[in-house]
Amino acid sequence: MTEEGDGDETIFNMLLTYMRVLSETSDPELVTVAFETKFATVLGYRPRLESCTECGGRSLSPEVCYSPEAGGVICSKCSPGSSGNIRVSYGAVKLLEALLMTEFAKVERIKANRSIRRETTRLIRAHLGFRMNRKLRSLEFLETVTNAP
Ligand SMILES: [Zn+2]
Repeated sequence: MTEEGDGDETIFNMLLTYMRVLSETSDPELVTVAFETKFATVLGYRPRLESCTECGGRSLSPEVCYSPEAGGVICSKCSPGSSGNIRVSYGAVKLLEALLMTEFAKVERIKANRSIRRETTRLIRAHLGFRMNRKLRSLEFLETVTNAP
């Protein structure tokens, strides 16, 4: 995103891809959370998942916290000192990582159970929500789409 306009085009193309993949998928929930994750990255808010945002430590226990404010994970040593964190399972962090690394059209192949998906959705929405400083209308729209029968 070096020049004015480049970012808009990227976002527009992403939306088009999202709409296309969504219309073909049997897994709209996963496609949507993948979109939100990639959307955050395009906006320059890539979630920091590889190490603790406080101490930089890489030993993340099975139970980690996510700080929407810091925009990344917080290890169990640092989490008691910081507030506003969301407790998440390591599986949810791993799913988020997989979504970031996987091409949009292939995200359906990622296996994840329902509770992990829910956690991941909650996590990325808190992450984006904090950055947008308000609930995004588009996310409400996405919720409507994924909850449709
Ligand atoms: Zn730490």
